[in-house]
Amino acid sequence: MTATVPLLLHNGLLIDGRGGDPVQGGAVLVEDGLVRWAGPSSAQPPLPAGTREVDVRGNAILPGFIDCHVHMAAPGSELSLGELAVLPGSLRTLLSAPRMERTLLAGVTTARDLGGADAGHRKAVEDGLVLGPRLIVAIAMLSPTGGHGDFRSGTDDRDSDEPMTRLADGVDNCRQAVREVLRKGADCIKIAASGGVWSPTDQPDDDGFLEDEIATITEIAAGHRGKKVAAHAQGRSGIINAVRGGVASIEHGYEIDDEAIDLMLERGTFLVPTLTTAHTDPDPAKAASWAYAKKRHWQQVARRHIPHAIARGVRVAMGTDCGIADHGTNLRELGHLVEAGMTPMGAILAGTSEAAELVGMAEEIGTLEAGKRADVVVARGNPLTDISSLGSPENVLLVMKDGVAHKDTDALLG
Ligand SMILES: [Zn+2]
Repeated sequence: MTATVPLLLHNGLLIDGRGGDPVQGGAVLVEDGLVRWAGPSSAQPPLPAGTREVDVRGNAILPGFIDCHVHMAAPGSELSLGELAVLPGSLRTLLSAPRMERTLLAGVTTARDLGGADAGHRKAVEDGLVLGPRLIVAIAMLSPTGGHGDFRSGTDDRDSDEPMTRLADGVDNCRQAVREVLRKGADCIKIAASGGVWSPTDQPDDDGFLEDEIATITEIAAGHRGKKVAAHAQGRSGIINAVRGGVASIEHGYEIDDEAIDLMLERGTFLVPTLTTAHTDPDPAKAASWAYAKKRHWQQVARRHIPHAIARGVRVAMGTDCGIADHGTNLRELGHLVEAGMTPMGAILAGTSEAAELVGMAEEIGTLEAGKRADVVVARGNPLTDISSLGSPENVLLVMKDGVAHKDTDALLG
């Protein structure tokens, strides 16, 4: 399927990502990798000569989804982090290729990788060497010593050299660290504003970077073509430091409270609750006992706090933390968001237009409108009456990125 053949997908339930009522008998016209028109067939413009007309048989037509929090370099449950650490770097990279493909085939056409994937992963997808979602990469998470990016034990005196993280302390060192990841091609910046579950010497309610360090990082990122900062922040104090420091999104946000919610509403800060990972139970055979205990506790914290933030109307963008959770069923997150109080349409917007806004690509992706990139998903049935169906990749029948179909389960395209 080339990008240059005009294609009309019709007889669909069109959910265009703008939040209006779904359109029965909806259609999308794709040409040269772009959406030319989307709407009810009754209002269809004249078709370009040679347009192929494809009946999607009443299934849903949606924008390609955007996962704002993945780690393609991390293995999910395929391998323990210890097993991963001893692999040659080349093998670690090659192992990420099938994960990227699974993510695309699950309906995710754009993914923001918040640590681990580098400019090479992004280019491999752009050049068609690897099948995967368009990648927006942070390269490595910036973290203070002993923070969420520091995987040394308390008795380990080695200089840290984790491929997924870069340690920095103090404003000056943070300046250098953020400029380093920008030099390596970062599209966005990831920071640790609190401790975390899988780091050995901290707790999720320990502070990570402080407000002055975070403000320095966000200022430098903003001065590089408006690049945005995503903050790993789980405990309340870390969340507040990050919001005050000017980050674009709070990742996880498990202990978000009214003070943080007020600040986020005022500033338009996004919450990316990563419920897919929060709700994945730790494996007692694989997780260290300290990590197991932290995870169990913070799962409950998330279940108490996230629904309140949703009820109060904090802007939510979809992110899964796949890589910590297993890759390839990213759209299960939509079901989790609905369980946490969002409407099915709200969850779909979190995964499309809202996510596009967060990643700074709202002009190009996130809705099916004339001029946008033709990232299109056709999914079985009506996700507004059964949102969980989208979480099963077998219900994702067609995945198109930039007008090129990469999956066509039911041979809709013939
Ligand atoms: Zn993560």
